[in-house]
Amino acid sequence: MAYDYEYMEGYELQPTKSVVLNISHKQRKQEFNNQTFKMGPNDMPSIEKVTHLGIIRITSLKGNMIAYVEENIKKARRSVYILLVGGFHDHNGRDVETMVYLYKIYISPVLLYGLELILPTTSSLTLLENFQKKLLKQILSLPTCVADITVNILTGILPIEAQVHIRALSLLNNICNQPDDSVEKSLTKRQLLIKNDGSSSWFIAIKHMLRKAKGSECTKMRLIRNVCQCAKEEENIEHFILKCESLRIVRNAILHEITTTLNAMGIQFDELSTNEKLQHILDLTPVAKAKKLFPVNVVQIERLTRRLLYQLHIARYKMVCGQ
Ligand SMILES: [Zn+2]
Repeated sequence: MAYDYEYMEGYELQPTKSVVLNISHKQRKQEFNNQTFKMGPNDMPSIEKVTHLGIIRITSLKGNMIAYVEENIKKARRSVYILLVGGFHDHNGRDVETMVYLYKIYISPVLLYGLELILPTTSSLTLLENFQKKLLKQILSLPTCVADITVNILTGILPIEAQVHIRALSLLNNICNQPDDSVEKSLTKRQLLIKNDGSSSWFIAIKHMLRKAKGSECTKMRLIRNVCQCAKEEENIEHFILKCESLRIVRNAILHEITTTLNAMGIQFDELSTNEKLQHILDLTPVAKAKKLFPVNVVQIERLTRRLLYQLHIARYKMVCGQ
């Protein structure tokens, strides 16, 4: 089909890029390898390794990851050499702070490129981690026997696994922030609903990651929909402080006290708009200035609002973690 299309449109497909890659799962290895594909009159070459959009693909998923990580380390090492022509400690060497900064902006992105999609497993992570550790120790002029954690503490650079997780989670966040009808978001929803926990899907790996980070499955669904625990409305400041039904009991007692106290000072709390109410609860200072409230009264109100917010927070925390 591609060949016909190419013929009709009058251009030529790049022959070195038109290749067959037999991706095999372990169980089905034999049956796949014997197939040949034709493009026009010629057989397409069946090969072991190809680069597509800067990402190496080889015939098995696991091999893919190993090859990719190795390639990344190779590229990162190359950029180190380009950056540090004069060596680490030559006569016009840079100071440590600059070097660490350069590592963060030039080398780390090369080292971690695309890893949020591959999500390397332990052995590959160790390779990456060793590369980072060794390089940073050289930059800091530390002997190899120094405890590994020192590097992270001194430079503020996170271990590789944490960096990969951050990248993966921000990718998920980007997907979640897309409009509801976008392909990526629909795909996320489908995968999360259909795939079971044993699946090797990227989304499931992310789900495990989130569970590790937050300890709750609801969080994952709430992240996608941003809906409050009460499942009625989007969770925002207004809903949390003034509306949420599931926090009503905690809220009402203290809010009543706040209303009475404010009334006594001549402020009709119930007649205020939502924004004004929130302003009174969150930060009384502008109101106190405008209405020239007595400091004693301000302290009194602030004690109550602080208690309200604290109690609401505790109640919400219990709900989120209790589920
Ligand atoms: Zn709610």
